[in-house]
Amino acid sequence: MAWDFSTEPEFQEQLDWVDRFCREEVEPLELVFPFAVRLRDPKMRALVEPLQQQVKDHGLWAIFLDEELGGPGFGQLKLALVNEILGRYFTAPSIFGCQAPDTGNMEILAAYGTEEQKERWLYPLMNQEIWSAYSMTEPQGGSDPSLFKTTAVRDGDEWVINGEKWFTSAGRHADIIFVMCTNGIFIVPRDTPGVEVMDYPRNHEHIRYNDVRVPLDHLLGPEDGAKVLAQRRLGGGRIHHAMRAIAQCKRAFDMMCERALSRESHGKVIAEHQMVQSAIADSYAEINMLRLLVLWTAWTIDNSSTQASRTQIAACKYTAAKVLRDVTYRAIHIFGSLGVTNLTPLQAMWAGAPAMAVMDGVDEVHKVTVARNVLKDYRPHEGLWPTEYLPAKREAAREKFAAQMAADPDLETYSDMMLRRAGAGH
Ligand SMILES: Cc1cc2nc3c(=O)[nH]c(=O)nc-3n(C[C@H](O)[C@H](O)[C@H](O)COP(=O)(O)OP(=O)(O)OC[C@H]3O[C@@H](n4cnc5c(N)ncnc54)[C@H](O)[C@@H]3O)c2cc1C
Repeated sequence: MAWDFSTEPEFQEQLDWVDRFCREEVEPLELVFPFAVRLRDPKMRALVEPLQQQVKDHGLWAIFLDEELGGPGFGQLKLALVNEILGRYFTAPSIFGCQAPDTGNMEILAAYGTEEQKERWLYPLMNQEIWSAYSMTEPQGGSDPSLFKTTAVRDGDEWVINGEKWFTSAGRHADIIFVMCTNGIFIVPRDTPGVEVMDYPRNHEHIRYNDVRVPLDHLLGPEDGAKVLAQRRLGGGRIHHAMRAIAQCKRAFDMMCERALSRESHGKVIAEHQMVQSAIADSYAEINMLRLLVLWTAWTIDNSSTQASRTQIAACKYTAAKVLRDVTYRAIHIFGSLGVTNLTPLQAMWAGAPAMAVMDGVDEVHKVTVARNVLKDYRPHEGLWPTEYLPAKREAAREKFAAQMAADPDLETYSDMMLRRAGAGH
């Protein structure tokens, strides 16, 4: 019987270490120096790098990469269990070398890059000597790639890129940007002449590419391979977001339960009011449903491929957004006025819920993927009645007993009596 929900004791020890390390080292750093992991200032590096070294010493650095891509080869299931802890802390992914958007970019570099491209960009990205961003969405629309207009035109030994991108996360500080053009994905150093980062929005940049020239070897993967690479990149990213969302939901839930036991109203602790219990019970069930969906998907990827798990990954993506929204809302509500301040992490988590429903593809698009793929296993019924139309099924079933009923008329009487009692046919 291989259906198992337990964690190997040796790996549990690593998870316990991750949990302790995040509570004792990562969270204090993030509370006092919130952006330290993204700064090059030597004073900040001196705080961050010793923590990263501890992660490396425990063999937990860049664990999203499979062995053949240069990582430790943990697979998605173990990664999910680690991400369930890391997702509680904003900066933990950077301390563990598995921060977005670099992770997705590293994945496609590892899978499609030439040896030279890997030497130049993948290993420095893995070591956080450089940072990257991903430019796909355009101002006129993100959900429909057929609207994208950014193109690269070959001119002698160079590609010349023209276009406009919107919401390139971390684009302002990235050393290299993976630019999705209609005819391929190109790696563009941010300081290349013609890369124009607009003043706003901050954090998720609006970038114009004006006659940006890059050498021919800056094309990643095949020419015209943009959609294939983008799917590969986003598939992994979506499940990683869902893994970290579990951590956020669990954090909101822990806060909700603690608070429910700590406040009194109308003569009892609020945890004794039935509607508060209902919020706790619903949240408990929903978080565990999400968790099982994500772990099952991670297991499926490990036992098949990201491509073969597309339907499950899409379901994880919108379910994570929904559960995060509902659980965070209930936690905020149970916290009352304190919940609507920014004196707890709840408001940041609440803001994360709509972002989760939009980034890496809006809910509607993922729901369409799920419905379409699921429906491929179904066929319309023949004739007027559905397969489960009981009178027709019963008629067919009676034929199975026809010989026995002919031999013993009592059986027919019994059947008629029972069906009348069951109200069949009404
Ligand atoms: C936090 C965050 C980080 C991001 N980081 C990056 C990044 O690093 N790089 C990058 O390139 N992009 C990034 N994005 C952009 C993201 O990929 C797009 O926002 C997303 O693809 C949706 O595109 P849009 O914003 O243009 O919305 P639109 O495509 O305009 O969609 C708006 C709404 O229209 C409706 N809609 C759209 N299509 C359909 C449909 N087929 N069926 C039904 N309804 C539909 C939905 O209600 C949808 O929410 C990020 C977004 C967020 C929120």
